[in-house]
Amino acid sequence: MIGTAILLNDFKRQWADTRADVLAAVESVGASGWYILGRRVESFERALAPRFGRRLAVGCASGLDAIEVGLRALGLQPGQRVLTTPLSAFATTLAILRAGGVPVFADVDRRGLVDLDLCERRFAADPALRFFVPVHLFGYPLDGGRLAALRARFGLTLLEDCAQSVMARWRDVPAGSAGQASATSFYPTKNLGALGDGGAIVTDDDEVRSRCAFLRDYGQSARYVHDHLGLNSRLDELHAAILESAFLPRLEAWTERRRAVARRYLAGIRHPRVRTLEPAAEAQPSWHLFPVFVPGAERDSFRRHLEGRGVQTAIHYPRLITEQRALAGVLTPEAAGPLEVARELAGGEVSLPIHPYLHDEEVEAVVEAVNGWPATRD
Ligand SMILES: *Cc1c(COP(=O)(O)O)cnc(C)c1O
Repeated sequence: MIGTAILLNDFKRQWADTRADVLAAVESVGASGWYILGRRVESFERALAPRFGRRLAVGCASGLDAIEVGLRALGLQPGQRVLTTPLSAFATTLAILRAGGVPVFADVDRRGLVDLDLCERRFAADPALRFFVPVHLFGYPLDGGRLAALRARFGLTLLEDCAQSVMARWRDVPAGSAGQASATSFYPTKNLGALGDGGAIVTDDDEVRSRCAFLRDYGQSARYVHDHLGLNSRLDELHAAILESAFLPRLEAWTERRRAVARRYLAGIRHPRVRTLEPAAEAQPSWHLFPVFVPGAERDSFRRHLEGRGVQTAIHYPRLITEQRALAGVLTPEAAGPLEVARELAGGEVSLPIHPYLHDEEVEAVVEAVNGWPATRD
């Protein structure tokens, strides 16, 4: 047993590479004497928005908050239903609930992303259902043209969950530019991760931007003037500075490296019982994760085999959101219709290591370990 050597995320290597820039950012904020909602947050917001094809961004305290604040800023009213996916981080649905919405779920396609054909039918059949929170899951972009067309045809309010998809593109259009707003996360494992929590809403709409800005700050429209019941969900100057001056300048190269690793995995992994997910021809994923699928009954054996070869793995996500106990009694019967594909994918998904600091030999070792999984059944 060699112990796990090839990690899903290698924060120590990232620190070794970014340390000097991070410490310089800390020094500059410390010396500025201004720690909350100042120039660094503003300048990070300006630098961030274009990564999603947007003009405006509002930093906040987490991805969860970004979705909640975004939905509230877009006018979601308590009790209104919101169509979303059962296969995502729990935060996607939790944010809808916290914003007062009632989540309803559509099944996913073979790639694990919410099935836009099913969504289209739901919107056509149910004119009262007009909020939509799709997720660009694993960093695979949904078809942005299709999202924009659905939005226009049904008059949708569309907020895209881009927590995993910064830099993903569909036909050269950044994921996250189809709806009225999008939300992202700076949780450390994300492609643009902070040294702690953070998130942001991006939009082109000045009204939406300003509503998000006061919602994140107790609902104040001016100092000590509270027009809305907001929250405290501010992004720190410190995190904004670190993100802007240490991590954002590396994002392009980080993404290229993830893409190179993904290309190698897609070309090299050949195993009768391991299915990879080829992206659509129009898609340039951000490769937040590299998911493969094995028959559910063999998943543990596959993961144990990889662990024995020093390869760390994870499951995204072992349980559908609709099956989480926290939602028992919360969901209406229509909310969780048949979700066969999502259930099947959740039963067999395994995430392989993909991050910018993987060495070539490690990538080869992962390919060999996967291909060397003994066939237990034929
Ligand atoms: C990480 C994540 C979130 C939540 O972000 P936090 O910053 O952890 O609150 C929401 N949606 C998706 C798809 C995520 O991956």
